[in-house]
Amino acid sequence: MQAAKDSRYTAKSIDCRHFINGEFLNPNQSKTFDNINPATEEKLGWVAEGGKEEVNLAVSAARHALKGPWKSFTDSERTKVLRKIGDLILEKKEELTILETLDTGKPYSLAMEMDIKRSAHNFHFFADYITTLGNESFNQNNMALHYSIRRPVGVVGMINPWNLPLLLLTWKLAPCLAAGNTAVLKPAELTPMTATKLMEICKEAGVPDGVVNLVHGFGVNSAGAALSEHPDVDAITFTGETKTGTAIMKAAAPTLKKISFELGGKNPNIVFADSDLDEVIETTLKSSFMNQGEVCLCGSRIYVQQGLYDEFLEKMVLRTKKLKVGDPFDSETEVGAVIGEEHFQKVMSYIDLAKEEGARIVTGGRRAGQYEKGFFIEPTIIAGVTRESRCVREEIFGPVVTVMPFETEEEVLDHANDTHYGLGATIWTNDLRRAHRVASKIEAGIIWVNTWYLRDLRTPFGGMKHSGIGREGGSHSFEFYSELSNVTIKL
Ligand code: NAD
Repeated sequence: MQAAKDSRYTAKSIDCRHFINGEFLNPNQSKTFDNINPATEEKLGWVAEGGKEEVNLAVSAARHALKGPWKSFTDSERTKVLRKIGDLILEKKEELTILETLDTGKPYSLAMEMDIKRSAHNFHFFADYITTLGNESFNQNNMALHYSIRRPVGVVGMINPWNLPLLLLTWKLAPCLAAGNTAVLKPAELTPMTATKLMEICKEAGVPDGVVNLVHGFGVNSAGAALSEHPDVDAITFTGETKTGTAIMKAAAPTLKKISFELGGKNPNIVFADSDLDEVIETTLKSSFMNQGEVCLCGSRIYVQQGLYDEFLEKMVLRTKKLKVGDPFDSETEVGAVIGEEHFQKVMSYIDLAKEEGARIVTGGRRAGQYEKGFFIEPTIIAGVTRESRCVREEIFGPVVTVMPFETEEEVLDHANDTHYGLGATIWTNDLRRAHRVASKIEAGIIWVNTWYLRDLRTPFGGMKHSGIGREGGSHSFEFYSELSNVTIKL
C-alpha cells in the first residue's frame, strides 16, 4: 500500500502506558502487547497490559482522590476544568484525529468531525449542563419540607469499545467528572491511543491526581474483568457487545454495583413507499456504511415497502458501488478498514453464510482489493433473505446490510420487533400519523423519523431489550453518575 510508506502512518503513533494517580507508569516490557494499524497491518507501537495489580492501584488512587482536593471543587470549578479539557481537545484536534484514524482505520475526515470534535463537545456540553441541574423540593401540606441532595456515586469504572473510542469514552467521562466522581478507564485493547492522550489533556486542564486513571489491557482474565469485579468500584458504565454485558453484570453482582450498559443493536431502517427516495438513499448510505458499518446505531436491516422496493434497490446499489473505500488519510475516502483481522474474518463469514443460506449478494461481498494489506471490505448489500437468516438476526457490525420487501405496516412492525435487540430504528414516511403510530410501536430506545444519527445531548440515549440498561444524556446521565438523598424537615 503506497500510503503505508507515508510517515504519517507511523511517526505520530504513541506507545500506551497506564495512567495512575497523575503519572504515566513504565510497564515491564514483558507486560505489553502490539498495537496494529488495521489499514496497513503494521505495528503502531506497544500497549501496557494491565491486570488485577494495576486495577487495584488505579482504584485505590481513585478512592483516595474522592477525599482529596476534588471533593471541595465547586460546581463552577468543575465546569472550568471540564471546559478546559474540551478546549484542549479542540486545540489538539489534528493530533487526536491522526491517532484515532491510525487506531481504527476509519476515514480521517470522519474521525475529525464525528469522533474528535464531538468529544470536545461532550466536555463543553456537560460543563454547562451541571450548572443547570436543580434539586427537587416538595412542601407536604405545610407539615414538612422535603428536598433532595445530590452527591457523587464514588469510583466509576468505564469499559469502552473500539468503534468510537474517544467519543464514547468522553460521553461517559464528562458527566462522571461533572457530578464529582472519580474514574478508572479501560479502553478497548484495539484502540488505546486517544484515551492515553486524553490523560495528558486532563492533567494539563488541572484535574487533580487520582481523579482520572487509565488501565490498558484486555477483557476476560485481564483489566476489564478485574475492574468489573473490584469491590471498591461503586459503578460500572460499559459500552460493547451484549454478551460482554452479561459477563460484566455477573462480575459486578456480588458487590451490587450500579450499572449502565450500552450494548449491541440490529436496527431496522423502514422505508414506506411515500418517502422521498433521494433523501432516503443519501441517508441510508450513511446509516449502512458510515464508519465501515461499525456503529451500534447503523440500520443494518433495511425494509422497503413494495412499490418502492425495486427503484430503491437499483439506486442504492448504484450509489453503494460509487463509495470510495481505501486509505483512511485520503480526503476522498468514504469507507476505511474494519478494525482488525478477527473482525474482518467475522464479517466475511457472515457474507459466506448469506450465500449458503441462499441469499443474493447484490453488490460488494469481497475484500476491497486495491491494497495488499489492510482489512478493507466492499460495502455489501444482501437481498433474498428471510426473517430467520442469521444475517438478519445477528449483529454483523461491518459494512453489510440486508434488504427485504414488505407490504403492510403491521407486517413490517412484526419483522422489525422480531429481535432481542432494541437500540435504534429509522422510519421513512411523509405520512405524519403513520410516523407517530409506528414510532410508538417500534421496540427501540432511539427512533428517528426521516433522518438518522441526529443527536441532541440533552435527550435520553440507550437501548431496550438486550441493547442496554439505563439511559445517558442530559439529566439522565446524572441519574447514573449521582446518588440522590431526600431530606425531610418537619415544619
Ligand atoms: P466488546 O464487548 O468485545 O468489548 C468492549 C470492551 O469490553 C473492551 O474494552 C473489552 O476489553 C472489554 N471486555 C471484553 N470482555 C470483558 C469481560 N469479560 N469483562 C470486562 N470487560 C470485558 O465490544 P467491542 O467489540 O469492542 O465493540 C463492539 C460492540 O459494541 C458492538 O456490539 C456494538 O453494537 C457495541 N456498541 C454499542 C454502543 C451503544 O451505544 N449501544 C455503542 C458502540 C458500540
